Amino acid sequence: MADCIFCKIVRGEIPCAKIMEDDHAFSLLDIGPINAGHALVIPKRHYPTLFEVTDEDLAACVVMARKVAAAVYKAVGASGLNFLQNNFRVAGQLVEHAHFHLIPRFQNDGFLTSWPGKAYAVGEMDKVLHKVLAEL
Ligand code: 5GP
Ligand code: ZN
Repeated sequence: MADCIFCKIVRGEIPCAKIMEDDHAFSLLDIGPINAGHALVIPKRHYPTLFEVTDEDLAACVVMARKVAAAVYKAVGASGLNFLQNNFRVAGQLVEHAHFHLIPRFQNDGFLTSWPGKAYAVGEMDKVLHKVLAEL
């Protein structure tokens, strides 16, 4: 998409700290890192969210993400790494070009180590499961 910031980066119209690219995917350092070494992997084609990404482009992104994750993890001496992906504003997506975050983590870095879980009411889990299965 012409005015999309990540499309402009892929086309070389905006500079970036590029890590690697192949025919389908592109990886770069995030400009506003949660921790130093925070990297992104994006499909080269424009897709607004995960839901539109083709299987081929998604596979390329995930394979690249694992490679870049291992490099980031070692390079910054991390003790952990989060592989995250946000869809839509309510879930924290700011750039509307699907992307994956690779966030190196350190002991006591002040960020969440787990999401607070809730309990299902009796019978609710089964209802939710049936709704999900009906959408497949
Ligand atoms: P989101 O909140 O959409 O999941 O994450 C978007 C990410 O893109 C943010 O972490 C933000 O720092 C990063 N970002 C936004 N604009 C640019 C840019 O121009 N260059 C780079 N390298 N990262 C960007
Ligand atoms: Zn785009």
